[in-house]
Amino acid sequence: MTQIKVPVVRNILQANDRLAAENRRRFDDAGIFVINLMSSPGAGKTSLLEKTIEGLAGRLKMAVIEGDLQSSYDAERIQSKGVQAVQINTDGGCHLDGNMIQIAMESLDLRDVDLLIIENVGNLVCPAEFNLGEHDKVMILSVTEGDDKPLKYPLMFQLSTVLLVNKIDLLPYIDCDVSKIHERARRLNGRQEIFDVSCRTGEGLESWLSWLEGKVLEVKGGR
Ligand code: MG
Ligand code: ZN
Repeated sequence: MTQIKVPVVRNILQANDRLAAENRRRFDDAGIFVINLMSSPGAGKTSLLEKTIEGLAGRLKMAVIEGDLQSSYDAERIQSKGVQAVQINTDGGCHLDGNMIQIAMESLDLRDVDLLIIENVGNLVCPAEFNLGEHDKVMILSVTEGDDKPLKYPLMFQLSTVLLVNKIDLLPYIDCDVSKIHERARRLNGRQEIFDVSCRTGEGLESWLSWLEGKVLEVKGGR
């Protein structure tokens, strides 16, 4: 059975990579910097998006694709901030793929957009395996999830350009050693940027916003 199974999985990933490459060409042609934002459920993806929209108001034009198992609750939260947002419901599917992004893009006006953030389905496993056409993968780990997560979900840490360690305002109340998160993440990915942040208090978010601005300039400069 495994002789059949392995090539099938590989074909799915190859087909997805072709679609992701098409998406990437469209993003590059339009001069849009694109992020694939991943985390486990409840780590703070939508909260980070809200804070990012507030922080970048007047600095960058943003659009958002919201991936969720069900409901349009998160896309409504984003739209209420005055940003274009489209919802993808995966109907139980545990990750987004390149095809879903192609369909979602048809509902967005990408003229004048500088930054597109795609919020993936909350899951630390397979979202890392499916490229969407993004320039960078960014992951959030909240300190309430524990400092052992880099050991258990190494692929996501290996592939993410940025690690946001969120909810640091809760550190006095929990047993989590942030230095262990840093050390373990660095061992998996020595080039990863790590920002310790609190979406609740706003601590550390300016470094994240500056990183985004720098990347947008890079993409625009490379056109
Ligand atoms: Mg969300
Ligand atoms: Zn999945």
